[in-house]
Amino acid sequence: MKNVSMITRKAVVISSVLTLNPLTQPDDAVGIALVYQKAFGGDPWNEGYICPVCQTVFADESGLWGYCPHCQEDKGLLIKILRYWPVNKILTDFYQEMVRPGAICLTMKDGCSVIAFAWGYEVKVNFSLDKYLEAPNLHKLIKGTFMYLDECAVLPAWQKNGCGRSLLSAFIDKSREAGKNILLRTLRGQAMHKLALRQGGGIIQNISRDRVIIMITTQ
Ligand SMILES: [Zn+2]
Repeated sequence: MKNVSMITRKAVVISSVLTLNPLTQPDDAVGIALVYQKAFGGDPWNEGYICPVCQTVFADESGLWGYCPHCQEDKGLLIKILRYWPVNKILTDFYQEMVRPGAICLTMKDGCSVIAFAWGYEVKVNFSLDKYLEAPNLHKLIKGTFMYLDECAVLPAWQKNGCGRSLLSAFIDKSREAGKNILLRTLRGQAMHKLALRQGGGIIQNISRDRVIIMITTQ
């Protein structure tokens, strides 16, 4: 009898980067919000849940507790912890940013589910951008209009599969077509910091102990 060994391989089939029109693809906008929630609920941000009383922030998996352990231990109160990033809050921010000049939203999908995204828009460097980016005096370091890569996230299960790299490359191509260089703000040493440096980016400003502003020249 022939012994046929079945080799099952987890197929890694990732779509190419797609440009999303948030106004005609509302289901994908919700998909983006769910990726956002999962990505920022895990390491290194751990913005999964928050206690509305003591303001303690918990990583995504802590949501299993349901109630704030601190309020329960200290005050005997059963306080339900809430989503740090509720879907409606993410969608509100997303749509407000998608109507800015030059707005771009890129996604990657597994089948029809969004697994990664990047979005950005044009910004003019001035005093109000310094405040927006919490980057004092950035306007003294650089001048002009840039594409700002505002958010980029990959579903934790899909991280380390090249999604971030593909999204950043596509964002660079779009920015080049628009004749703009790119600005982004990220955590030092994290995935996006490394990707941006690999794509020729350079640190423009260290804005805090762990945050940096990076510029990628596209021209
Ligand atoms: Zn609490």
